[in-house]
Amino acid sequence: MATALYPGTFDPVTNGHLDILQRASRVFERVVVSASEASHKTCAFSLEERLSLLRTVAGQLPNVEVMPFKGLVVECARQVGAGIIVRGLRQTTDFDYEFAMATMNTRLAPDIETLFLVASSQYHYLSSSLVREIAALGGDISQFVPPEVEDAIISKLK
Ligand code: ADP
Repeated sequence: MATALYPGTFDPVTNGHLDILQRASRVFERVVVSASEASHKTCAFSLEERLSLLRTVAGQLPNVEVMPFKGLVVECARQVGAGIIVRGLRQTTDFDYEFAMATMNTRLAPDIETLFLVASSQYHYLSSSLVREIAALGGDISQFVPPEVEDAIISKLK
């Protein structure tokens, strides 16, 4: 119960992801945040870039570790000794996908629980893809991502 896994694509990490991570780090003794190697999404940032940004922004949280994962989330949870998978829920649009994932993960590994943290209201509509889109259109993304991530997005666009 003491270790939780927070898996995702993190392409790139936003203030919404960080909010979930900070809150999870207050609930669990140890939180492993893992960026997926192969995602169902086409990524704008490489795995190494996504991990490096996660390490930079999660560095101040002493009980958080960053690592890559490939394959099944439940196998990753077992490998790191996590009995809990943490996911964030924003709007109802997240629900179907998260419900399906949680149900299938429970079928695969009944001993691993998925726990949802409801996104803080200011982050309900925040997603990595929207942030990238706003940046590509010349918009100010400083309120959505940490400064290091803002720099990385702007460099990527050049
Ligand atoms: P995935 O491709 O696995 O959904 P994401 O990086 O998009 O990976 O999201 C990882 C987790 O973080 C998901 O549970 C998602 O719902 C959650 N999340 C994403 N953006 C936010 C946000 N703005 N606030 C809270 N949770 C979020």
